Amino acid sequence: MKKQTIAKRGTVLLILLVILLAVSGCTSTPKPEEPAQSDEPVETGNLDNGSPWVDYDLTENIAQVKERPADAKDDLYLYANYDWLKKATIRPGFRSEGTFNTVSDEIRNMSMEVLKDKSLESEDAKMVQSFYNAWLDWDARNALGVEPVAKIIDRIKAVKDLDGLSALLCEKYLGVEHFAQFSSSTGINDPETYLYGIGPMGLFLSDSAEYSNRTEYGERREAAYRTAAEKMMAKFGYSKEETNKMMDSALALEGDLATSIMTSAESMAPDSIQRMNNEMSLEEAYALCKNYPLKAITEAWGYGHAERCLVTQPEFLKKLDTLYTQDRLEDMKNYMILCAALDNMSNLDRESYEIYVERNNAINGSTGMQPDEEVGFDLVRSSLTTPMDRAFLDKYDSTKIKEDITNICIEVVVYYREMLKEEDWLSAQTREKAIEKLDNLTINAVYPEKWRDYSGLSLDGLGYYDCIDAIGKFERDYNISKLNKKDDHELWSFDILETNAYYNPMENSINIIRGILGDAFYREDMSKEELYAGVGSIIGHEISHAFDTTGAQFDATGKLSNWWTEDDYKAFQARAQRLIDYYNTMTAFDSYQVQGNNIQKEAIADMAGLKCMLGLLSKQENPDYRVFFENFAKVWARINTREYEYICLMQDSHPLHYLRTNATVQQFEEFHQAFDIKEGDGMYLSPENRIPVW
Ligand SMILES: [Zn+2]
Repeated sequence: MKKQTIAKRGTVLLILLVILLAVSGCTSTPKPEEPAQSDEPVETGNLDNGSPWVDYDLTENIAQVKERPADAKDDLYLYANYDWLKKATIRPGFRSEGTFNTVSDEIRNMSMEVLKDKSLESEDAKMVQSFYNAWLDWDARNALGVEPVAKIIDRIKAVKDLDGLSALLCEKYLGVEHFAQFSSSTGINDPETYLYGIGPMGLFLSDSAEYSNRTEYGERREAAYRTAAEKMMAKFGYSKEETNKMMDSALALEGDLATSIMTSAESMAPDSIQRMNNEMSLEEAYALCKNYPLKAITEAWGYGHAERCLVTQPEFLKKLDTLYTQDRLEDMKNYMILCAALDNMSNLDRESYEIYVERNNAINGSTGMQPDEEVGFDLVRSSLTTPMDRAFLDKYDSTKIKEDITNICIEVVVYYREMLKEEDWLSAQTREKAIEKLDNLTINAVYPEKWRDYSGLSLDGLGYYDCIDAIGKFERDYNISKLNKKDDHELWSFDILETNAYYNPMENSINIIRGILGDAFYREDMSKEELYAGVGSIIGHEISHAFDTTGAQFDATGKLSNWWTEDDYKAFQARAQRLIDYYNTMTAFDSYQVQGNNIQKEAIADMAGLKCMLGLLSKQENPDYRVFFENFAKVWARINTREYEYICLMQDSHPLHYLRTNATVQQFEEFHQAFDIKEGDGMYLSPENRIPVW
């Protein structure tokens, strides 16, 4: 499922693939509940007041370190990354810097050549260039001002009653988010077929938990949205006072709906799939709503012929139905008006765009602005993914990289098979099923062989807002056209230029794409130690998602199906719980604790992936483990603003980067030996307390 452009507000739980895909970069999601405390916390022996290492993802902490540590015994992350951490600064408009940024800069610089090269003649190159130039054409954008959104706001303002609102919601191309999200989505029981997915809207405060238990993040986010709303709504003639009253009204409506929307911690929990797997007929879905015009919207938008329906959160639909009354009409109108203004800030004139940047800076602790050209590329990439990817590959032949990466993936899979065979805590029956799953793994390396048809889209002569509008309509029609049809796995549903990698449990595929294949991850002249620590550990990580606490629930064909014996699954959960408990003992910065429950899947994948690469390395002649571990640490080098570190700690399914490094490597004897780690050293973990799940 394609990701939305930068204009969207919060994480939307409808798009199952996005939730289930395991991503190796840090992507943010909303805030968690308190982690469950285990009765028997892990004895670590070296944890001093719960903080084995200082959080050097924060520049203020690294500033206090005067010299590079003499060795890696106390802190591998600091030792390997000291020089980089000391020099690194966060650029204007960014909330972090790190190895992933270095690689995405490389890809962006190459892509800028595609966007600027007037000699390129392909339809793809012409389309991405015309969109990019429309983005940069501030004269035209300023001349148009906020007029397109003013027209939408006027239409919402004119609504007098529920019938009027329902008529508006039935418009397929209204251009405003409303309360539910509709799309064709592959099923969970049958991941081969597109059914009609219905899920809740995104929220201003991003996480539904913020409406009942406000955190500093929620406070900051609300303040940032209010400031942005005051400035934007002034452009449509609203006073500050009127705007704040509208915000109060919209937040009250969201607060009532939020009680029925899963929190981000709930959506990260392993049982979230079962909770969202509510497949039903259209009639059954319609029966959930007496007031809210679900049937009319469904038919008007073109989903009325759906054979099956997936309502990810039925409680939300029921709640929405109780609120869809004349009494709440003004709240609903206020919400939609604010969405129209705030979701379009980056699509309008320069002043609106600057308000948009200010709002993001206030949320992320960033300052200043990224150059327009760079933002333009990111927009092209997210809005015109296929044409941009194809134009890139046209200019930069990547066939050799594809061959190399495919071969490395095969090498890793072959070793992984050996590794699974040796998992003697599993019964032979479960082990066989695990191996069957691995044998059926699809390797998607670098770029697809088949592409979506874009011939129906033309952006010739359009201004930026009209481009966004045309692309939005094109995407909606494409999405509707997939309903009831079989999924074509050869068409990849994501951007290959993103600096990221995925495991998709519903296809049982790993996706190691072009955008991550630079710098510390992959170069043709790398040593085996560097290669295994780089893209190797990413591949190992992604394969391991097939066997994390979510992946373990899907079988070799991508169906939700339990292939474990009861005893084996209990043993697996007990191992995962030890890992959760270990992470829960840690405090990152200030008094904020690591959320073991939220990061269990990613931590399991980190450890299993590293175990696999260490096994492969052991087969080399005279492997240099120190080089391997130092390069592994360099892959995770990163600094974050304090605000973003908080978001990563509380809302992300990945451990913080200094922990991804240190807490992962200390699980392995090879690490202790390579750096002669002894009891009393900061990196020491006694053999009985080591917890790699696999
Ligand atoms: Zn992952």
